Amino acid sequence: MRACAEVDLSAIRTNVARLSEVAGGAAMMVVVKADGYGHGMSEVARAARATGASWLGAAVLEEAIGLRAGGDTGRILTWLAVPGESYDEALGNDIDVTASARWQLADIVSSARRVRRRARLQLKVDTGLARNGASVDEWPLLLAAAADAQDRGEAVVTGVWSHFACADEPDHPANDSQEQNFRSALADVRAAGLDPEVTHLANSAGTLLRPSARFDLVRCGIAVYGLSPAPRTATAAELGLRPAMTLRTRLAAVRQVPAGQGVSYGWTHETPRPSSLGLVPVGYGDGIPRHASNRAHVQIGGVRTPVVGQVCMDQIVVDLGAVDARPGDEVVVFGAGDLGEPTAQDWADAAGTISYEIVSRLGGRIARRFVGQDGQ
Ligand SMILES: *Cc1c(COP(=O)(O)O)cnc(C)c1O
Repeated sequence: MRACAEVDLSAIRTNVARLSEVAGGAAMMVVVKADGYGHGMSEVARAARATGASWLGAAVLEEAIGLRAGGDTGRILTWLAVPGESYDEALGNDIDVTASARWQLADIVSSARRVRRRARLQLKVDTGLARNGASVDEWPLLLAAAADAQDRGEAVVTGVWSHFACADEPDHPANDSQEQNFRSALADVRAAGLDPEVTHLANSAGTLLRPSARFDLVRCGIAVYGLSPAPRTATAAELGLRPAMTLRTRLAAVRQVPAGQGVSYGWTHETPRPSSLGLVPVGYGDGIPRHASNRAHVQIGGVRTPVVGQVCMDQIVVDLGAVDARPGDEVVVFGAGDLGEPTAQDWADAAGTISYEIVSRLGGRIARRFVGQDGQ
């Protein structure tokens, strides 16, 4: 096999258990959007359920429906749609859906009428992220419309929630103000006569670093996959998390070049001495960030070797140094880090991005293999 993302489902289980313990009495939602952050949505979902996740979170309707199609029977929340999208299938599948505005509530209610189901409705309020969620002006109008829909038996308001902007920076003043805004939005909810089953605000960083933000339910994504949501505050290991994904491939070629050889497109690297170069057959077409050119490392024969020259669409070149490597030898692009291999966080640092992007954008040419409990 050319390249394979190995996903350790026992690490997923351990991380979910760890987060549940941290969350105390709050229920656990495991967020599996974007194909489980690149780890495989259905497999992660099964591991999460087996460890007590009472909720799964999916960004878009088709992900939520995909979870049902894969046999999941628990609570699922979804939150992102465009005007005019049909909620028929989601409501028919008992998925909790989110309204951030009256237009969205109207779309949900018209589906509820069509499929003759009471929509399980959650309301999202913007407390400072300025992305979606009802604005201060929209919020009382949305609450009134939701209360009407509930009175008419077309919807039942199951939850009220919001999302943090800066939870990865625990001392950022936005956290206090968002939590305060959320508490005041909850007071509006009660004043509107609504009594939702769950209120929730915390993502992974909020769950781990801000006990006051846990409310009834926490929504954990990145930490489930064993990556730190706040790498400047605490590493994954310090948070008791284990990275679940190892990206493995094999050397496609090894060549000896003289000193002064320009390497890869643009000759952005020149060998300072006669060098042994290894060809690693993954590139930006597979999700390897081009911004990590000349900065990231891979592990070969137990040794970290630097990426030299530009990352190409299908391949990267590494300077093997003194490693006596041969074509076919294993290359660990990133992994849990406990055998000295680089981590997804190391690649994120090299590329000037976040670990979320490294794991979630791995392309369709990378095979996936599951190990650990539930895997082989
Ligand atoms: C992605 C997402 C999460 C999970 O965030 P992490 O930082 O990965 O824990 C939680 N809630 C919402 C609304 C999200 O979109």
